[in-house]
Amino acid sequence: MTSAYPLLLSPLDLGFTTIRNRTLMGSMHTGLEEEKDGYNKMAAFYAERAKGGVGIIVTGGISPNISGWVSPFASQMSSKRTAKKHRVITEAVHKEGGKICMQILHSGRYGYHPFNAAPSSIKAPIGMFKPRKLMGFEVDSTINDYASAAKLAQFAGYDGVEIMGSEGYLINQFLAKRTNHRDDKWGGEYENRMRFPLEIVRKIREAVGKEFIIIFRLSMLDLVEGGSSWEEIVKLAKALEKEGVNIINTGIGWHEARIPTIVTSVPRAAFTWVTKKMKSEVSIPLVTTNRINTPEVAEKILADGDADMVSMARPFLADSFFVAKAAEGKSDQINTCIACNQACLDHVFKREIASCLVNPRACHETELNYTQTDSPKKVAVVGSGPAGLSAATLAAQRGHIVTLFEAANQIGGQFNIASQIPGKEEFFETLRYYKKMIEIHGVTLKLNHKVGLEELTDFDKVIVATGVKARVPNIEGINHPSVLSYTQVVKDKLPVGKKVAVIGSGGIGYDVSEYLLHQGKSTALDVDLWLKEWGIDKSLNARSGIEGLKPEFSKADREVFMFQRSEGKFGDKLGKTSGWVHRAAVQKRGIQYIGGVQYKKIDDLGLHFTQDGKDQLLQVDNVVICAGQESENELFNQLTQKGIDCEIIGGAKFASEVDAKRAIKEGAQAASKL
Ligand code: FAD
Ligand code: NAP
Ligand code: SF4
Repeated sequence: MTSAYPLLLSPLDLGFTTIRNRTLMGSMHTGLEEEKDGYNKMAAFYAERAKGGVGIIVTGGISPNISGWVSPFASQMSSKRTAKKHRVITEAVHKEGGKICMQILHSGRYGYHPFNAAPSSIKAPIGMFKPRKLMGFEVDSTINDYASAAKLAQFAGYDGVEIMGSEGYLINQFLAKRTNHRDDKWGGEYENRMRFPLEIVRKIREAVGKEFIIIFRLSMLDLVEGGSSWEEIVKLAKALEKEGVNIINTGIGWHEARIPTIVTSVPRAAFTWVTKKMKSEVSIPLVTTNRINTPEVAEKILADGDADMVSMARPFLADSFFVAKAAEGKSDQINTCIACNQACLDHVFKREIASCLVNPRACHETELNYTQTDSPKKVAVVGSGPAGLSAATLAAQRGHIVTLFEAANQIGGQFNIASQIPGKEEFFETLRYYKKMIEIHGVTLKLNHKVGLEELTDFDKVIVATGVKARVPNIEGINHPSVLSYTQVVKDKLPVGKKVAVIGSGGIGYDVSEYLLHQGKSTALDVDLWLKEWGIDKSLNARSGIEGLKPEFSKADREVFMFQRSEGKFGDKLGKTSGWVHRAAVQKRGIQYIGGVQYKKIDDLGLHFTQDGKDQLLQVDNVVICAGQESENELFNQLTQKGIDCEIIGGAKFASEVDAKRAIKEGAQAASKL
């Protein structure tokens, strides 16, 4: 059988070793590194991805010394004792036929601890601690620490190392004038600034010999003022090749850049053109990256000659068997990463163990398992929102006999509304995945079927996932014809006027505002349009890809006013790593905020409220209610009163701040316990 992805699945020969296909699992910090029994947990995590067919895995960043820690007591490779502990990981990966490289990351001024150090003592805009300037002799010893970490990685059984030279970490800090104000041989002209990474590579190659993979993650687009120019980046790439780097991986954007690079509203494969530009400059293999989440997209990138390999990181959290499924022609069974960051990056930034919204088993491989049952139960799942879908499909996968009841004419619950927001089109993929799982695991799906107590008495177990209903705030005139619910706006597409008040500033308030302020085609579906909106120069004439350019956001012919009763900052409860993008996008499209209000009434004139004790009126055509949700738990109460064996999950259990992450996780946990 010929594969649908011949390029993606073709091996890559590096001369002394061969990578089995063109996939690289990009480096991700998972938090397991610092966990109790972390090495065994990491071994299980990486081995499952190797078993799933990943070509080459890159570990989360590991520091070569204390000053390079990402956070206090973060993982570090500087002793044989530590290296020995890593063997459980490398052996587990090799047993599954995979390859694994250890990433060496010195965080420089991004280090979240008081011992951080950098080329110059300049605090990062996103940093907590001002770094100490490295003395000349310390620069030399840092280079030696990199070489020693690589040598120890070799001792630990790794197939190679990746040198982290992007995202604004130490190496980037040496390269860019923005962060390197030195006047010794490590600063000043570009030849001096690029000396640091070149010395690192030279020393590492000397230490590890020829037959050890060296990947360099090169920042090809800094997206910050005072970053590298394209000419400088090419110069460095050529010099890296000369020093014996085997593969160059692409890095896009420093962490402090105010341009999104991986969230869901970034179009798929939005930056592969950058790697393509480098293709003609060097002859070693290039890896491209960012927002590549399906085998179809990956294959097209390779077919278009943009790169030799594709890096995906989060997609392997979402589905460890991504490659195997693609190879078997089952790409419709892949659980697709929707780029929400909610359980991966947001967790890491909160110092929690990473996981995945669509796959709560990620990074919990030793704890959450869906074993086959030897006593199948007759299970009813009520509601096919994320919670019910997760419970029903995993219970059926385990061998239970599952009936899924859904009152609406389609599966998905609130996720159907979410997926219609411009920039959230990826959410459709989750529903596509569940549809397929319902089919292959033989769940009996009953759509248009609002189920009541009477029909549920015959099951061994009932899982109630009836979700949420929109809160109707107690405001005089709430039934006025100008008032619409978010469901009526986004799902039912009722007409909305030119001047609108949105009541509520939670995730849904922001999404609805984006929906109302977006003009024409969703920019998440058009790379060029999206690059123009955020002011990125595709010709790369502009230094860092942005200098001298202005964002050009399209604006709808509509005014949107967002209201909240609280006094605080708008949108401060949005996701840690994605909230700023939602806030920036609506702001650039002209949203107006009105906070610290008390709602008085809604009538023909508009919305009446008080602010700072003064009565105010905003004349609007419509008032859209996004004031949170309440649980739909009546059925559960009836079942419990009748003594029927049941469990409640998702928004039905607890509506406050419910999101799909909690809903899917509770569904998975309920199914795993059956
Ligand atoms: P629901 O999704 O409410 O599903 C409940 C289902 O049960 C419904 O389909 C309903 O018809 C059915 N039902 C109820 N009673 C019965 C009955 N008696 N018989 C049969 N069927 C019944 N979350 C995130 O994590 N990230 C986001 O970015 C995000 N964005 C969002 C954007 C928007 C615009 C919206 C509206 C929501 C968003 N959410 C997001 C929230 C997320 O969709 C919800 O938290 C999640 O859907 C809750 O899942 P659930 O399964 O508990 O309930
Ligand atoms: P939410 O985050 O709880 O926000 C509700 C908003 O309504 C608040 O701003 C609140 O502000 C206001 N409100 C609450 N009670 C009110 C009342 N009685 N009268 C008037 N206003 C009231 O809920 P949501 O926006 O509906 O989102 C639901 C969940 O979906 C969230 O928890 C979120 O996790 C998830 N979600 C996530 C995303 C994402 O991008 N990650 C996007 C959408 C949704 P005041 O009390 O200050 O007025
Ligand atoms: Fe992707 Fe969201 Fe899962 Fe992270 S949590 S891997 S972004 S789907």
